[in-house]
Amino acid sequence: MNRIIAIANQKGGCGKTTTAVNLATALANLNRKVLLIDLDPQGNASIHIGIKIYDLERSIYDVLVDPERMIKSVIMPTGINGLDIAPANIELSGAEIELVNVIGRESAFKDSLDDIDKEYDYILIDCPPSLGLLTLNALNTAHEVIIPVQTEYFALEGMRKLLKTIDVVTKRLNHNLIIAGILPTMYDARTKLSEEILKRIKEHFKDKVYKTRIRKNIRLAEAPSFGVSIEKYAPHSFGAQDYHKLAEEVISYE
Ligand code: ATP
Ligand code: MG
Repeated sequence: MNRIIAIANQKGGCGKTTTAVNLATALANLNRKVLLIDLDPQGNASIHIGIKIYDLERSIYDVLVDPERMIKSVIMPTGINGLDIAPANIELSGAEIELVNVIGRESAFKDSLDDIDKEYDYILIDCPPSLGLLTLNALNTAHEVIIPVQTEYFALEGMRKLLKTIDVVTKRLNHNLIIAGILPTMYDARTKLSEEILKRIKEHFKDKVYKTRIRKNIRLAEAPSFGVSIEKYAPHSFGAQDYHKLAEEVISYE
């Protein structure tokens, strides 16, 4: 059975996209067939993987607003063996408004995956920094959610709201949804603060916290501007090592 994993946290800049792209690539390198879905109007995951988002003929937007359109029709190859992408661009910001009065608007996305879910071992969904209709569609579709949490002072702010949303989705819409794990990101071993926050995250979420922590690594911040994953941009960097380790940890729960 395949695994559909949403990468979500309404907090901006906590490492969702970096995790979605580099975990997807690392899983593909471990011989898994992976689809990365960009569900953020910023289109950051698409840009990161080298897609020219302004020239797109079709994107995930078309899938959301047209009940007849299946996701298969917007999937593109990435140039990485085993990894495909369903890209997004700013057009997607209209979907949230257009869907408001549509019946079954929380399922607009889920139903479009029917024809492909057997083709991939992993489907990763990069969510936008909000708890609006796009994130709701992702949570309604996923089996699991990974929550990246930056090991910085305000990291846990807003977590209560996120967990409450996940709880409501689990009860009302998607009984299969589980929290796969809390992922500490941008960890800086040189600062006491990072260590302190990590300690608090672990106290709070106990065994739900991934063993892998993603260290702060400038290479991870540079890679997007070259339109390639960390494994391609700097294969020996801490960033590449950490995401490889995360992929192995994710696979260990198969
Ligand atoms: P948004 O909420 O806007 O979608 P996000 O949660 O997807 O943001 P990212 O875009 O992945 O967050 O990361 C925010 C910024 O931090 C980016 O510039 C990214 O390159 C950088 N970054 C992410 N992870 C790391 C890391 N481990 N070390 C250094 N820089 C990082
Ligand atoms: Mg992002």
